Amino acid sequence: MKLTELVSRLSCSSHYTIWEYIVKQKKGTSFALYLRSSSMIKRFRDDVSQIQASKQERQMIEEFIKTLPKAELHLHIEGSLEPELMFELSSRNKVDMPFVSVEEVRAAYEFSDLQSFLDIFYAGAGVLLQTQDFFDLTWAYLEKVNRENVRHVEIFFDPQTHTDRGVPFRTVITGIHKALEEAREEFGMTSYLILCFLRHLSEKAAFATLEEALPFRGWIEGVGLDSSEVGFPPEIFERVFTKAEEEGLRKVAHAGEEGPPEYIWQALDSLGVSRIDHGVRCMEDQKLVKRLVKEQIPLTVCPLSNIKLKVFDRMEEHNLKKMLDAGLCVTINSDDPAYFGGYMNENFLATQKGLNLSLEDLAEIAKNGFRASFLPQEDIDSHLQSIDDMLAMQSTSG
Ligand SMILES: [Zn+2]
Repeated sequence: MKLTELVSRLSCSSHYTIWEYIVKQKKGTSFALYLRSSSMIKRFRDDVSQIQASKQERQMIEEFIKTLPKAELHLHIEGSLEPELMFELSSRNKVDMPFVSVEEVRAAYEFSDLQSFLDIFYAGAGVLLQTQDFFDLTWAYLEKVNRENVRHVEIFFDPQTHTDRGVPFRTVITGIHKALEEAREEFGMTSYLILCFLRHLSEKAAFATLEEALPFRGWIEGVGLDSSEVGFPPEIFERVFTKAEEEGLRKVAHAGEEGPPEYIWQALDSLGVSRIDHGVRCMEDQKLVKRLVKEQIPLTVCPLSNIKLKVFDRMEEHNLKKMLDAGLCVTINSDDPAYFGGYMNENFLATQKGLNLSLEDLAEIAKNGFRASFLPQEDIDSHLQSIDDMLAMQSTSG
């Protein structure tokens, strides 16, 4: 650790005031530290070893998270559009942007709630026009998470965001599918694609989208429900979800992020979903928690998204640990990583730090990601085994 860093951390310590030590810089590289008494020197030594120990622990946790095999189940592919690619595509496709620089886009990512995020999200998606654009978008995400040791992904896409702008359904799904296939070959990463209906649009529009999707049934694993939650309860889409089920598609839905626990009940009972996306507000209804625990309905929680959209003010206030302790099948995911400041590892790291999660907690959350996936049971078992092996190795070396 550099002495400059050490001193800046010590200056926050209650043992010292800025007047109790003097740091003198010599030629910009070495430092002398003067302490006024022997007891102060002892305190200084103790503090140094404590700081060094906590830094080592932090490094060990970061390494553990990095190497932990992970599954991502809540990722909107349009939400992985980084400002750099947004600019590249806007010039490639000659689409005017309301921003002049990457920095300006990043500055605009200060949202106050879900709706203010969605306004920018839909504007950004306007640069996606050709099959190659959807391939590039998906490939950029897959390459990134492969480096984070994400072994399996279940990706949402919002066809209506594109078909409403005149981009054919085929263009969208072909680009995404091609990238998923390449990741399977190149990285050995498995994947499923989930078509999401935009809930702020009508039931009729959702039916039309499902019809358009059916010729590509072999590329789609399930359907979901996303976009503005409040005011658009899941039950509006009961019939279209029934139709999707008849087509053999699996069902998930966003519920209980900004919307009330009642929306989670509806997603379960009216739509018959097997997984709830977000679901953090379930904790306001103990009867609901009991049911979710009993049936082990997975909840795809997205911690950084929740902070950015002010579902919780600070990570320290997030209820993920309470959910885990209550026996809920909680997973960690990134939602819209380009907009919310982090992919899978950043979400794991921030949550661990904010809630002081143990290695066992982290391993359990990663295991839940595979348990909650739509992978065949033998694949799930093999991922669970590799996490158990990693944990066992950690406790031996620790
Ligand atoms: Zn989402």
